[in-house]
Amino acid sequence: MEDSLPLLGALVALLVGLAVGKAWERYKLRDGRWIDRRRARDSHHYVLGLNFLVSNQIDLAIEELSQATRVDSDALEIHLILGNVHRERGQVARAIQVHQALLQRPKLTKVEHAYILLCLGLDFKRGGFVDRALEAFNEVVRMDPNNQYALLYLQKLHEEQHQWADAHRIRKQLVALSGPDTQPRNQAILGFLENALGSEALAVGDRGRAARHFEEAIDLDAGTAPAFLNLGDVRLMQGDVAGAENAWDRLMTSSPERAYLAFARLEKLYEQLAQPDKFEQRCLRLIAANSQDWRARLALGGHLAKRGRDLEAFEFLLAALEHNPHGLTVHQAVWGVLLKLDLGRALVQRYIESARSSVFFLDPHVCVKCHYRSTELLWQCPHCHEWNSFVEERIAPAQDATGEM
Ligand SMILES: [Zn+2]
Repeated sequence: MEDSLPLLGALVALLVGLAVGKAWERYKLRDGRWIDRRRARDSHHYVLGLNFLVSNQIDLAIEELSQATRVDSDALEIHLILGNVHRERGQVARAIQVHQALLQRPKLTKVEHAYILLCLGLDFKRGGFVDRALEAFNEVVRMDPNNQYALLYLQKLHEEQHQWADAHRIRKQLVALSGPDTQPRNQAILGFLENALGSEALAVGDRGRAARHFEEAIDLDAGTAPAFLNLGDVRLMQGDVAGAENAWDRLMTSSPERAYLAFARLEKLYEQLAQPDKFEQRCLRLIAANSQDWRARLALGGHLAKRGRDLEAFEFLLAALEHNPHGLTVHQAVWGVLLKLDLGRALVQRYIESARSSVFFLDPHVCVKCHYRSTELLWQCPHCHEWNSFVEERIAPAQDATGEM
């Protein structure tokens, strides 16, 4: 038994040492007082601050979080949050001040350093200091090459600056980091960036490079509709008529709902080639594939009217009206053809009947608070329960000449 006494003593000493160490970790001396390091996080100021933040009461959140930092000025995450809240409040100078002060702290871990820099970059971005924001995000990527947030912000900043090559390079880095489930979305974004690079090349007269970018955009994602239009335009500039026709035809096949974007180009092309029937064929093909396609009917109606086939045009336009009774351009086209046909009484009658059977403004009343729609004027919104919140929806004028509403 006596043999075990020294062992017991050593064990007790070890436990005491551990307890002191724990206490040291938890408490520290500041201004001659012992401060509980955990207090800041445990204080009701911190919890209240987070609650105010969640309920979007930003001023109260700032007040409580500031109180929490006074309990323990060392608590890094509370300062970080406080800085971010200042930024969201539009107090960018304060946010920058808070985050820059954190960067001066000794013994920051690499993760902490990178995160503070990221917040600082967002402050600069919000304040419109683009170069300093780019610098901060680039610094984060240097410290942590796989930081997807920093890469994403860098891409967006380059896009805003129309620096398409940089945006594209960074998107490629992001693609390499992301999983297979995000690849379709990635392909779509890369497609639009390639398309922008093509337009940039075209603006400086480099048609060959422009065409390659447009082709690449289409290869990446056939949903990049503008790339088909642009590729056709470049081919035509290069004197390659078949190439132009091919590009626009491919748009019709890959995205029939966007086919109408190529109508004016194709109609003009076939007119120049003295092959107007080809335009008619393409419209008919679209209508056969999608019976709802009012744009193809409108285009075909206009095309036939130009060629003097007014009665046929009238039938297509009336059918277009059935599928899109709200389309002012369709009504205009119908009246154009009716005038050409000397307002034939029977035809006008058919137009009036068709318009009458179409339901206009099915649900014109909209709740201004929650956007609930209703066919009749309601005094209390059934969705958000607001009183007297319905207004009648109006279509805004294309150009607001008077400025009054
Ligand atoms: Zn409502």
